[in-house]
Amino acid sequence: MAKKKKWDYSPAPESKQPAAISRRYELFINGKWQQPTSGSYFSSINPATEEKLSEIAAANEADVNKAVQSARLAYEKYWKKITPAERGKYIFRIARIMQERARELAVTETMDGGKPIRESRDFDIPTAANHFFYYAGWADKLDFAFPNKKASALGVAGQITPWNFPLLMAAWKIAPALATGNTVVLKPAETTSLTTLKLAEIIQEADLPPGVVNIITGAGQTGALLTKHMDINKIAFTGSTEVGKIIQRTLAGSQKKLTLELGGKGANIIFEDAPIDQAVEGVINGIFFNQGHVCCAGSRLYVQESIAKIFIKKLKDRIGTLLVGDPLDKNTDIGAINSAQQLKTIQSYIKIGKAEGASFYESDCALPKKGYFCRPSLFTNVAQSNRIAQEEIFGPVLCILTFRTDDEVIEKANNSPYGLSAGVWTDKGSRIFNISKRIRAGVIWANSYNLFDPTSPFGGYKESGFGREGGLQGLQPYVQLS
Ligand code: NAP
Ligand code: MG
Repeated sequence: MAKKKKWDYSPAPESKQPAAISRRYELFINGKWQQPTSGSYFSSINPATEEKLSEIAAANEADVNKAVQSARLAYEKYWKKITPAERGKYIFRIARIMQERARELAVTETMDGGKPIRESRDFDIPTAANHFFYYAGWADKLDFAFPNKKASALGVAGQITPWNFPLLMAAWKIAPALATGNTVVLKPAETTSLTTLKLAEIIQEADLPPGVVNIITGAGQTGALLTKHMDINKIAFTGSTEVGKIIQRTLAGSQKKLTLELGGKGANIIFEDAPIDQAVEGVINGIFFNQGHVCCAGSRLYVQESIAKIFIKKLKDRIGTLLVGDPLDKNTDIGAINSAQQLKTIQSYIKIGKAEGASFYESDCALPKKGYFCRPSLFTNVAQSNRIAQEEIFGPVLCILTFRTDDEVIEKANNSPYGLSAGVWTDKGSRIFNISKRIRAGVIWANSYNLFDPTSPFGGYKESGFGREGGLQGLQPYVQLS
């Protein structure tokens, strides 16, 4: 078959200069930048170039204690005492400064994490600011959120975020905690701390009372110390199911409240009456968005048997047109894989899939010589029991399965340890209701995929965790109701 001709685009690179990344970042504790007790720092690199961007303080136990103590003092001394409307003003101020510094944040996010600038500019940063705007609005309206009840703050919240949506995950956690009157100690992921540290600068600029938000950087061990700390009232964690289980064990028997947002293996279901070309775009967006580093990615595709052949052909054609490369180029569809370690994990799953007997297809695009890149790919002839259909790959690799009836696909979609997200594509409204009622997943998109809004709650069933972030429901984990 003749090779499909791809369009050529001239490069349209975003400038690195707006990122203004400092050579070194300290810990943000009690409203000040403080050197780590250990005196040690780790490097953050750009995964698209393998260049070092900055060095970041590693917090040890003494630093974690200091941060929690400062959050406790700030809670008792300032945050508990100010009016809810005043709290709201601070949060609005954070949102506005984020908008003012949006370009700087977008370029930094892309350089630090490898995601295309188009995504950080048009999705991550504006959505993060929108979360602060949204929760700022709730601060003085908690009586309406919980009618006939009195909502009081819990105290100090310990929060831990992953590397795939660094600033957005920090916003999901900090905004509702502040709106409900809690103070915060947050630890970002090791490979992508920079935008969270810039958020600390913004919080300083917004003149929040010292200690209301503390940012401590470091490896998993720093996160573990935070979860074990006795003076914390609530832990909010987003990350892998494996670490989620460790945290659950740590917290067992304690009074700490817990929410876990963990992994996923989203079923994206295409019925024969779906608008096929739109569904192809939806599937592409569902799995290749952010290099597949998305907990709610539509990584398991179920196509109705009658249209499977044409659908898979269209998918392959479309994959061939995706542009993989420099994340700072505005044309780029698929940027860099977040770390060498994650690239290895993805490659090992591709090997596992081949060994399990599935058929592998990947784009024939060239990859940059430096950096961690992975071609978009798909597996067909996948069995429901295959590891590639059951486990989270967290990369641009789609597994395709087929089905004949509604009942069959519901059973297959639910046959997963996860339950975070799903998609259904069909012309029939009644089918959408039936499927979305019977699939055990926290978010189900109809004739769309990966749409987010601060007003809608997000969270999982089963091993995808518990508790909701976003929307009115996102306030609940941060309050005590009486
Ligand atoms: P991860 O390894 O679990 O790490 C998440 C965070 O926890 C990081 O800040 C990590 O620090 C820290 N950490 C590691 N070990 C810890 C421990 N023992 N105690 C406390 N904290 C610890 O996950 P990841 O690889 O960063 O992120 C990918 C995973 O997150 C995927 O499974 C994905 O599905 C999930 N995710 C879920 C959602 C959701 O909303 N459900 C959203 C995004 C991602 P270091 O970075 O320094 O190791
Ligand atoms: Mg980095």
